[in-house]
Amino acid sequence: MIRATGLNKWFGEHHVLRDVDLEVARGEVVVVVGPSGSGKSTLCRCLNRLETVQRGEILIDGAPAPLEGRELAGLRADVGMVFQSFNLFQHMSVLDNITLAPVKVRGDSRTGAEKTARELLERVGIGAQAGKYPAQLSGGQQQRAAIARALAMRPKVMLFDEPTSALDPEMVGEVLDVMTGLAADGMTMVVVTHEMGFARRAADRVVFMADGQIVEQGAPAAFFDDPQTDRARDFLAKVL
Ligand code: ATP
Ligand code: MG
Repeated sequence: MIRATGLNKWFGEHHVLRDVDLEVARGEVVVVVGPSGSGKSTLCRCLNRLETVQRGEILIDGAPAPLEGRELAGLRADVGMVFQSFNLFQHMSVLDNITLAPVKVRGDSRTGAEKTARELLERVGIGAQAGKYPAQLSGGQQQRAAIARALAMRPKVMLFDEPTSALDPEMVGEVLDVMTGLAADGMTMVVVTHEMGFARRAADRVVFMADGQIVEQGAPAAFFDDPQTDRARDFLAKVL
């Protein structure tokens, strides 16, 4: 589904992705962990071309990820992204947030888009909030609305960049539950998170990054119980 090979990215002199190879199979849930500044967000942003890479290749479903134009809009639809800060449009109702892109970008009918949006809001457990504005929702509800908005484009892959880091602790679980449900339904997912419990439960594979490289990867039980590198052991000693 995703095949990234030889990704290299510099911000000025700073080499932030170093020969990163990442393959994600259809239906696979890959959780990316690692210290702050290791390049996790940059990797996610490169996968849907929010950032450019100086070297390397990204294939989505066998086709090169496009860099511009209509094809780029298509890529953004295929690769949904959910950020730490929910990024909902504040001046629109939750329902309008979700129907905007399907109507404008994909040309769906208003009626059809609304029906889908209501179904998605039910699925993420906030069906009753459709008419409200983001500011009237809790953080956990806003993030679930953001997930529904990404799903409304019928993505092939969902990227999550620390989706629970900005939430009050009591709201983390409701967002992780939605993500666990998506994973169980077979969604292909790349999740950057510090929630190690989620990684252990929901990941098919854990990818550990440090200094712009993938240092280690494996099944969650193997990674958490028997890390192979000093870097991973140090990291786990701090976060577990
Ligand atoms: P965190 O866990 O703190 O979110 P991260 O693993 O997501 O960290 P990135 O945000 O990908 O790390 O950053 C990787 C490196 O690139 C860091 O050193 C960061 O300072 C740098 N960086 C990220 N974005 C930019 C930018 N727009 N311009 C310059 N440097 C950047
Ligand atoms: Mg980050």
